[in-house]
Amino acid sequence: MTRSVVILGGTGEARELAAHLVDRQGVRVVSTLAGRVREPRLPVGEVRVGGFGGPERMADWLRAEGADVVVDATHPFAARISESAAVAAGLAGVPVLLLRRPGWSPGNGDHWRWADSLDEAAELLPGLGERVFLTTGRQGLSAFAGSPLWFLVRCVDAPTPPLPQRMRLLLSRGPYALDGELDLMRTHRIDVLVTKDSGGEHTVAKLHAARLLRKPVVIVRRPAVPDVPTVATVDHALSWLDTALG
Ligand code: NAP
Repeated sequence: MTRSVVILGGTGEARELAAHLVDRQGVRVVSTLAGRVREPRLPVGEVRVGGFGGPERMADWLRAEGADVVVDATHPFAARISESAAVAAGLAGVPVLLLRRPGWSPGNGDHWRWADSLDEAAELLPGLGERVFLTTGRQGLSAFAGSPLWFLVRCVDAPTPPLPQRMRLLLSRGPYALDGELDLMRTHRIDVLVTKDSGGEHTVAKLHAARLLRKPVVIVRRPAVPDVPTVATVDHALSWLDTALG
């Protein structure tokens, strides 16, 4: 009997998990994406693009697809879909696993200030420097719109206003290497880095660059996660799936 695994995606881990499962005998994999990025990196296998319209509709979709298990492998800052997935899986009676990579931790020589939100991050900036490397993505940049500081804004797709008044936009997608991050921060005479606590290897080089350049970092704390079984790695997710799928 074929078992259906739904992977809520938008991350490298989600793509990696799909790649591990797609050729398994008796397993059908459907990955879902929000559809926010213009040219997303697509996972292998079946892909569904677009929001569900809330948890009840997601539950309907899970039933219609005959989902046997849901893996929420979305980004640590995608809080709405994770909450939705926990509720929807409960409504549909389908087990759910949260695959969430660990957050970052400061090391020797780091000067990190933690913020609970982008608004709080913006409030912490005055006093830390004039030139800011802002790497929190294209959503929520309005938090910095009233700031008199200068921003180098790096994101995958162009953000929409309101935006910082004094800014330069850099459209790019990771992974990033240390040399490039050092160059970028030196070239733009960056005083302070702002990032979310996304975790993972793909974008960690900016934090190493800030450490080497002795620049402060404002780091936004992760939102709360739903109370569901959680693993930190793709390997652990695969083990959990082996048990869940029998
Ligand atoms: P969000 O605020 O949690 O989600 C907003 C809405 O988008 C959800 O309520 C849902 O719509 C839909 N959605 C989100 N992820 C989906 C998925 N994988 N499949 C189907 N629908 C999805 O999320 P976000 O912060 O906008 O992020 C959107 C996507 O980008 C996520 O999938 C995430 O993995 C990825 N991503 C986010 C970040 C980040 O910093 N937030 C960074 C990298 C990648 P309905 O309510 O209509 O179902």
